[in-house]
Amino acid sequence: MDGLGLSFEELEQKLKEKSLSPKFAELIFKKAYRRPHFSGWSDGRFSPKLINFLESSQWNRPKILKLLEAEDQTIKFLFGLSDGRSVESVLIPFYRKDTLCLSSQVGCAMGCRFCHTGTQGLTRQLDPAEIVGQYLAAWDWAYDKRKNGIKAPNIVFMGQGEPLHNFKNLKAAISLMTDKRGLDLAPRMMTVSTAGYLPGLERFSELGGVNLALSLHAVDEDKRSELIPLSRKWPLKVLLEQIDRLPLGRRQVIVYEVMLADGFNDTAKDAKLLAELLKNRPHMVNLIPFNPYPGSPWKRPNLPKIKGFKQMLVEFGIRTTIRSTKGDEVMAACGQLKT
Ligand code: SF4
Repeated sequence: MDGLGLSFEELEQKLKEKSLSPKFAELIFKKAYRRPHFSGWSDGRFSPKLINFLESSQWNRPKILKLLEAEDQTIKFLFGLSDGRSVESVLIPFYRKDTLCLSSQVGCAMGCRFCHTGTQGLTRQLDPAEIVGQYLAAWDWAYDKRKNGIKAPNIVFMGQGEPLHNFKNLKAAISLMTDKRGLDLAPRMMTVSTAGYLPGLERFSELGGVNLALSLHAVDEDKRSELIPLSRKWPLKVLLEQIDRLPLGRRQVIVYEVMLADGFNDTAKDAKLLAELLKNRPHMVNLIPFNPYPGSPWKRPNLPKIKGFKQMLVEFGIRTTIRSTKGDEVMAACGQLKT
């Protein structure tokens, strides 16, 4: 039985089924999700029967099979899963706090044309333990290596997979990560990214106040469909109507991700269309210079072009940042993950 990944209530139920007191659930949660490092159960507070139950359940974090470190200190982890498959996560250093990019699926069914994972197809969904496990294992590693002043990283669900296509397990993982009795992470530290999977967007408010990032990329529907085949099924207009309906908390942010490809969507006309679309919506635009991968059909625009595009948006009153292209020499940047 998987212990890691059980909700608090499920754990209480399992204890009852084994004629063990459910009051131990709180202590078990604290130990299992303790950061850093899970240190096992034998510390004198549990009975032999309880230890036996806990040791027969699976609480270990996933194994790091491989680790690549870029010059800018971005780390790409390859984690081994119990069925022999593997998945990647990326720890990205920023000035005040690291950001950890987690995967939600092995592969992805969405087939976005700018994304290396999209060339892989969907193998399977990750379960809540595998999603939370990436966080715990990466955090343990970071704590060991960067002992000075490490803070719990922000989390973005932007790794391999379309998170909203694995809604049930994503919801369970977020609920576990924000449970005050365990990891106790703040929802505002988390951002869920989507290519535009409407059934998940319709349930987005069930995720409890996390931020949303929509892969927007192009305002023109034909151009967007060229990048994201899913948008033929659920066009941007429909997605935005749904996003406009979301009840937003005070600290909740909607980020529009725009991957900039040279000569494709980086013109003055593209900037104007984008500004018109977003000016009356809560927004933050994140420009992502295209990250090439072997065989990719686009090129990254040069820096003056990227900065010029940002400047045009800013002049239209659009809040805009440029995402630095961290980790691309180890294929750990946005859209470059593939196992
Ligand atoms: S960008 Fe995201 S949704 Fe699109 S193929 Fe890649 S992993 Fe899947």
